[in-house]
Amino acid sequence: MPALADRLGRAPPAATVAMTIKARALRAQGVPVISLTVGEPDFDSPPGAIAAAHHAALSGDTKYPPQDGTPALKSAIQRKLLRDNGLDYALDEIMVSNGGKGTLFNALMATVNDGDEVIIPAPYWGAYPLMTGVIGGTPVMVNCPQNNGFRLRADDLAAAITPRTKWLILNSPNNPTGAALSADDLRALAAVLVDHPHVWILSDDMYEHLVFDGVHATMAAVVPQLRDRVLTVSGVSKTYAMTGWRIGWAAGPRALIAAMVNMQGQVAAGVSTIGQAAAAAALDGPQEAVATMGAAYRRRRDLVVDALNQAPGIQCHRPEGAFYVYPNVAGCLGRTTAAGTVLHTDEDFALALLAEQHVALVHGRSFGMSPYVRISYATDDASLTEACARIQAFCQGLR
Ligand code: PLP
Repeated sequence: MPALADRLGRAPPAATVAMTIKARALRAQGVPVISLTVGEPDFDSPPGAIAAAHHAALSGDTKYPPQDGTPALKSAIQRKLLRDNGLDYALDEIMVSNGGKGTLFNALMATVNDGDEVIIPAPYWGAYPLMTGVIGGTPVMVNCPQNNGFRLRADDLAAAITPRTKWLILNSPNNPTGAALSADDLRALAAVLVDHPHVWILSDDMYEHLVFDGVHATMAAVVPQLRDRVLTVSGVSKTYAMTGWRIGWAAGPRALIAAMVNMQGQVAAGVSTIGQAAAAAALDGPQEAVATMGAAYRRRRDLVVDALNQAPGIQCHRPEGAFYVYPNVAGCLGRTTAAGTVLHTDEDFALALLAEQHVALVHGRSFGMSPYVRISYATDDASLTEACARIQAFCQGLR
């Protein structure tokens, strides 16, 4: 076979995907697996969004879209930024992309030269370092320990910035820990960032509507002084249970947005008109379901945290938001499972739990902090209750 590109070596398959495939394979053999791997809402997309997609398709909204997004969706995003975030952006400071992930790619592609550094607080969403590496940048991880609520400390940020730093990526509430940064946290980080005008700040607000304790805070609104360096990113995937529609957006300085639109033009030409019509309807339509889903996630968070903390060897921090918990499994390592497997790492824990109790979750190494596992609780209460009972049984069986 002719050779593939070297950059593939910097893009190993994501652990979340690998565990999901393992779980599916077991299920296909008839094993009753409960999968808590994927960060995907179990709710339906809003009926108004689905109706808008039908209408778009039937009314001929089926031609190439503008590369930066349809005027209708961009206007809806503009209203949303004002309504939800107190941010006032012009239409040419906003662009639509293929999910939040597409935004991240456009932003890094448009700014990162070979060897430029991207500061990524750990634990992190695995896409940040992988994408940075694929594009030729160097991910620089900064540890955010559990004893600081998994939040980035200003001193640690200051120590990580070099002349080659291009971006700081902030993600609040966080995947995988659920940690949320307060306005005071952001001000403390901003006090460091004002001294480093060569650093862009990406605020990944994908879980902005899932804050259960306190309120969501975002850098461009909290510290307007930094606004000309901040790219605010969000999308409909998590807020409206619309992962499959692939609609995300970014708001930021005009020149950066123009460069990102250029990159998107190279890769994707634009974003599905049908998806954009649906997203506009979700943003402009009734918002009650957002709060209803949020209340369900909050209840599930408490259910899962309380149950996990009864499993011997597990210690689970109660996070402020998103739909993940990130329990520490240090107390289970060095011990032997009921089936005779010695657990050395969080990956051993995850694999043995899947094999012996048929619960799939993702080990912490892939999120940059061990020994932890990530549990997505975006699934129904009955499955969560059963999964936690199986995890308890697994831990009780350790010798
Ligand atoms: N940002 C974070 C932190 C995420 O966890 C995800 C998805 O898991 C995304 C962005 C991307 O979301 P999407 O591309 O579905 O809009």
